[in-house]
Amino acid sequence: MAFSRSDALVLREVRYKEADRILTLFTYDRGIVTAKARGAVRKSSRIAAATQQLTLSEMDFFENKGRLTVQEAVVKEPFEGLRMNFENYALGCYFAECIEAFVQEEQPDADAFQLILNSLYAISHELCSPLLVKAAFEIRLMCLMGYAPDLSGCCYCGKTDPVLPVLGVQSGHICCRECRKNGLGEGMYLCNASLGAMRYIAAAPAKRLFSFTLPEEALTRLNLATENYLAAQSGRRFSTLEYWKKTLSQSNALKVKI
Ligand SMILES: [Zn+2]
Repeated sequence: MAFSRSDALVLREVRYKEADRILTLFTYDRGIVTAKARGAVRKSSRIAAATQQLTLSEMDFFENKGRLTVQEAVVKEPFEGLRMNFENYALGCYFAECIEAFVQEEQPDADAFQLILNSLYAISHELCSPLLVKAAFEIRLMCLMGYAPDLSGCCYCGKTDPVLPVLGVQSGHICCRECRKNGLGEGMYLCNASLGAMRYIAAAPAKRLFSFTLPEEALTRLNLATENYLAAQSGRRFSTLEYWKKTLSQSNALKVKI
């Protein structure tokens, strides 16, 4: 039996029995863990708010035979802006699913932890466009997880600035549209601006990750490339991404060409 304390982001919550929550947490100290929060569904529970999905809290854990229980939890950042905007909440859930898909359980990862917190914060506080944050999150996560695309130049002719660049979502290479051969697999069309943004995201200091701008069309192109790249590298579909797209088409607040 042991007690421990860590900052923890609630990636997912599942109701269990009458009033308990089973939480999937991304903790700063231990990485992704599962923990039970007894009675947390009850409004009167002192840990109800701190154990909600997409909340950053300081949590005290009690561990017994490898099972974690949340003893105390205090909200550090509620990301309230996400709760007031259905689309942005859905996008936050997608970020959480990406983290769960790529970060290994019980392996601390300070960079990935900071990435998702900064991304949720930027959307919640409307620091920049959700599309910009999404593309930056996707490519930066791939870089952190060892799936960085090779953006140095055309993989066929070597030009550092390919003409009408294409990103191979399986291979992680770029090439000119005219150099494209069958070997590249499924490719996503980029442009000079969206390729430049991708290079920026891969290399920028964490604090400057969202400090770039793109015209709307290039931003849309970038987003389609980054989400397809992430999906191809993971080899799976993300139900939260599909859900987010549905929220967009309902409100028409943001247009993403699919
Ligand atoms: Zn080329």
